Amino acid sequence: MMSSSSVGEGDDGLAAAANVAEEKMQLDECMVCSDQKRDMLSLPCGHITTCSGCAVRVKKCLICREYIDDKKKVQLMHAYKLHF
Ligand SMILES: [Zn+2]
Ligand SMILES: [Zn+2]
Repeated sequence: MMSSSSVGEGDDGLAAAANVAEEKMQLDECMVCSDQKRDMLSLPCGHITTCSGCAVRVKKCLICREYIDDKKKVQLMHAYKLHF
């Protein structure tokens, strides 16, 4: 893929919407493997950055670089569903 960074003329709105959707997808994905959903809560900072598989390899939070004292498995999918 060529890395031409030409920002489109005309379809700005569509492009922006697509970008937002992509960012949301990435927020859901584990920051280490990008394959599994994030489901491990880092304590004490409270960020959710990795899946349970990758959490064992992460000693510092990937967002705030705080040392991780404890981890808690969360069920994000269930949490989302409860809202509806
Ligand atoms: Zn992972
Ligand atoms: Zn953090």
